[in-house]
Amino acid sequence: MSFIETEEQQALRQAVAAMAANYGQDYYLEKARSGQHTTELWNEAGKLGFIGVNLPEEYGGGGAGMYELSMVMEEMSAAGSALLMMVVSPAINGTIISKFGTEEQKKRWIPGIADGSITMAFAITEPDAGSNSHRITTTARRDGSDWIIKGQKTFISGIDQAQAVLVVGRTEDHKTGNLKPALFVIPTDTPGLHWTKIEMEITSPESQFQVFLDDVRLPSDALVGSEDAAIAQLFAGLNPERIMGAASAVGMGRFAINKAVDYVKTRQVWKVPIGSHQGLSHPLAQNHIEIELAKLMMQKAATLYDAGDDFGAAEAANMAKYAAGEASVRAVDQAVQSLGGNGLTKEYGIAAAVTASKLARIAPVSREMILNFVAQTSLGLPRSY
Ligand SMILES: Cc1cc2nc3c(=O)[nH]c(=O)nc-3n(C[C@H](O)[C@H](O)[C@H](O)COP(=O)(O)OP(=O)(O)OC[C@H]3O[C@@H](n4cnc5c(N)ncnc54)[C@H](O)[C@@H]3O)c2cc1C
Repeated sequence: MSFIETEEQQALRQAVAAMAANYGQDYYLEKARSGQHTTELWNEAGKLGFIGVNLPEEYGGGGAGMYELSMVMEEMSAAGSALLMMVVSPAINGTIISKFGTEEQKKRWIPGIADGSITMAFAITEPDAGSNSHRITTTARRDGSDWIIKGQKTFISGIDQAQAVLVVGRTEDHKTGNLKPALFVIPTDTPGLHWTKIEMEITSPESQFQVFLDDVRLPSDALVGSEDAAIAQLFAGLNPERIMGAASAVGMGRFAINKAVDYVKTRQVWKVPIGSHQGLSHPLAQNHIEIELAKLMMQKAATLYDAGDDFGAAEAANMAKYAAGEASVRAVDQAVQSLGGNGLTKEYGIAAAVTASKLARIAPVSREMILNFVAQTSLGLPRSY
């Protein structure tokens, strides 16, 4: 692992930052508050090759890795316009299909995911299973050569703007015990697939949905790869998901700190800028240190992942997601504080990040489940649940 990004990586970082700056938080909040999607930004990012930078070149991707994709996520988020669907479409689904899909599945889905013309949602969470994915009950049964899927999912991001959804279910013969998942790509216009919006208190252009699968009939080739390899397929998507969760939070932390720093440099209520009071400068310096540390762990996770060390990447990706989530919640809180009353106005836009920043503590895997993982896997402590 090098601490110095290559010229290519630096150029990518600058290009993404330049594009994102043309949109920024004003654009993002306007879209979110008027119930619209950030379609123009998504399309431009796709056209410039940013969304599929991690996907294989032979299927229209950029041929780089999770390091580069996390960089794209971080820079967009640092500009105040994070694209949540990047966590699921290219990072989880693009990775799973390009690593495990059949040749036909790769040709059908990856080019579109890479250039952004296809957005694919991801559905694993269920109302009664929550963090315990072993309890999911969405079930696939065979009917001739077809599959019939029945079940319910919750908090599924962006299915309304997606052309397809990757659903994690289980086959009929594996109803109990440890999860033996089966992964299906379902076009969103398939009969029997419905969704209803969950009203959230997050200012975001992407919405979350309850998803209902009422005997959804699928052809046999909707199953991703092979039935027996699905646990490996699922795990292949989890490290990228956590790395992207960390990248989003690191970007949000940077965004909040920058906003606060700009403000406290000029705002005067005594005879000097308020940023000269250590009561404000020290917490912001602390926030900066915490974000930089989380970013370092995120870069380690992405580097290990890209090098093929899935086990090492799992520990680092979980720790990075945890550290970035905590650091960004604190950075956003301090940014609001630094702006005083303006921190709570719509005009300054930082209060909008308060609930959004908490997302990194809850999804895609909660703070507590990461602590469970680290306690058990890194420290060898007994499982508590
Ligand atoms: C904005 C948003 C977008 C999302 N997008 C998607 C998506 O696109 N696709 C998808 O599949 N899911 C999505 N999710 C779901 C998300 O992954 C889950 O919310 C998350 O995994 C937590 O599950 P839960 O909400 O059921 O909480 P629960 O599992 O009910 O947990 C509630 C609380 O209990 C704690 N807890 C549970 N078990 C333990 C334990 N053993 N030890 C200690 N603490 C424990 C948790 O940490 C948490 O604090 C999204 C969620 C949100 C909020």
